[in-house]
Amino acid sequence: MTTIKQFYIYYDGKLPDKGWFQCCVTCDTITSKLHYYKNITTLDEDEVEIYSYLCNKCKKKLSDKQFFKDYEINCEELISDNIMLIDPLNQIPHSP
Ligand SMILES: [Zn+2]
Repeated sequence: MTTIKQFYIYYDGKLPDKGWFQCCVTCDTITSKLHYYKNITTLDEDEVEIYSYLCNKCKKKLSDKQFFKDYEINCEELISDNIMLIDPLNQIPHSP
């Protein structure tokens, strides 16, 4: 049986981690709006739903191909920055 966890990614704007408001992943505007990005499966075979903080203005722009590409790049970067939190077994070796 798999359990589904949720993980929220946002641009680090030095706001409290537990707050309702974080910075939009693409334009760093402060927002409370979330947008589902994708599911990832951890090494434990748990499903994690990744949600990004995305302001309304950027949400409307997602239909734009170039914008969506940038959004994806930002999300992938934030996921790899947080992979130790999302998936503690996923030990990425850090170069010294
Ligand atoms: Zn935005």
